[in-house]
Amino acid sequence: MRFSVSKKFISVLMAVIIISVIPKTGVYAADRVFPYDEDLVIVIDPGHGGTDTGTQGGRIQERFMNLITAQALVERLNQYEGVTVYMTRSDNDTTMSLTDRAKFAESVDADFVFSIHYNACYAHDRFGIEVYTSRIAPYNAYGYQFGNLLMHRFEDDFGIFPRGVKTRKGLRTEGDYYTIISANVYREIPAVIIEHCFADGTVDSVHTASNEQFRDYGITDADAIAEYFGLRSSVLGIDCSGSSDDLIEADVSSFNDATYEDRTAPDNVSITVRDIDPVSNTVTVEISASESDGMMMFYALSTDGGWTWQESKIWPGADTYSGTFDTSFELVIPFENGYRPTLVVKGFNRYDAYTKSEPVTFLERFDGCNIPLYRTGTIYGG
Ligand SMILES: [Zn+2]
Repeated sequence: MRFSVSKKFISVLMAVIIISVIPKTGVYAADRVFPYDEDLVIVIDPGHGGTDTGTQGGRIQERFMNLITAQALVERLNQYEGVTVYMTRSDNDTTMSLTDRAKFAESVDADFVFSIHYNACYAHDRFGIEVYTSRIAPYNAYGYQFGNLLMHRFEDDFGIFPRGVKTRKGLRTEGDYYTIISANVYREIPAVIIEHCFADGTVDSVHTASNEQFRDYGITDADAIAEYFGLRSSVLGIDCSGSSDDLIEADVSSFNDATYEDRTAPDNVSITVRDIDPVSNTVTVEISASESDGMMMFYALSTDGGWTWQESKIWPGADTYSGTFDTSFELVIPFENGYRPTLVVKGFNRYDAYTKSEPVTFLERFDGCNIPLYRTGTIYGG
């Protein structure tokens, strides 16, 4: 199937995309926005392969992880009716360019491309699933709606944290940064990248412990795809042809705000002492943030002025589906007797950019008896 939307129309649409920076609250049980005919053609793209290993930060190379997931996905999806499934690569030795993958999708008349990946980051401290969609309408909406549905399943079935459906702008264009997305959209084929979880993170290490888990993710991908396209399987006894509670309201005529790429750090992050218990050596602090063009997603605490950081935690109230978060929350921090802390907090937004708070410096040690003096703000020459 081919879309009737012409390339010229898309380029005009690109020029008039207005990105509003306030994410709107999602409304579920919406209609499927993806139009397709009876003969659905899906291309599954196991990311990387051959000399391109993908991330090597995990237990096994990413190219292997991606293929295990993709093969389980294809096997499962083939049990649904009315769908033809292709893979861009079916072994681990094939090196294939991103453009060639899109050309392959075009050659088989693909309706949708799903690119299968696992994530990694320099600090090895991130966790969760994220989905990248195109910045271009209507492809933005298709990926946004599918990605939200997929994240719900991963959160419910595996307890993997939903990092959101995201976009990334190309370096010199208004189009997409990721070639697997831009090269397909150029051919009028919607494409998404699924980053299932982090191969290198300590939090997600429980989710990447066995190859069986990579297979389970492929099965869940397939069932989410089936739900998104309203497919049926008599073999599996699954019928997704009715309405779905997990479909989010999505706008095919423009950019969906919740996928907005926040390229700046949070506006402000602060830490305020609310209470000190000198006997139990605990401090109750209030941590606050303002983030006008996005949402807070993680925070990390340092008790030694920023030399070392505790493992980052989910920002209270962070809801990637609605784009909302608690603007402030309280934290009770215990200290060992004799410790003289300097508290600093880093608040991370949905795109992992962070802002550091001013420090709260204790001028005296906790001694299990007296309330130590403290000062907020940077102390110079101290
Ligand atoms: Zn990858």
